[in-house]
Amino acid sequence: MNDEGTYIISDTCANCGKEMPEGAEYCPHCGAHASQSNVRISSPTVGRFTSRHIIALLLAVIPGFFNIFGLGQLVLKRWSKAFVYISITILLYYLAPSFLTTTGSQILLTIFQVLVFMYSLFDLFGAISRGEA
Ligand SMILES: [Zn+2]
Repeated sequence: MNDEGTYIISDTCANCGKEMPEGAEYCPHCGAHASQSNVRISSPTVGRFTSRHIIALLLAVIPGFFNIFGLGQLVLKRWSKAFVYISITILLYYLAPSFLTTTGSQILLTIFQVLVFMYSLFDLFGAISRGEA
């Protein structure tokens, strides 16, 4: 249970509440086993959630409401994805509306725009949680 980086040591014993040295298997104060008290196994993805990821998500969500997709992908340097989303942005918001003049087609376009927005967020969040970005 001493593989480095496989778990996060919290600084207090869950059993007695006193401070524990990092990496200790047993609490020096009460003898509780660390793995049964205060050592939390961290999944590899949790530790990799960085401030860059937060910025990427913010840039995916906030400009998304103003119909600009792909900025979050840019932050994560996923160039091809960013290119695709920015192309879709131009297509859906700048080209398609001038061709779709009936109410029905405009409603369909709006639904499609919302779906693309949601998918772009799902895509970005998935990439982060899988550790790809
Ligand atoms: Zn203890």
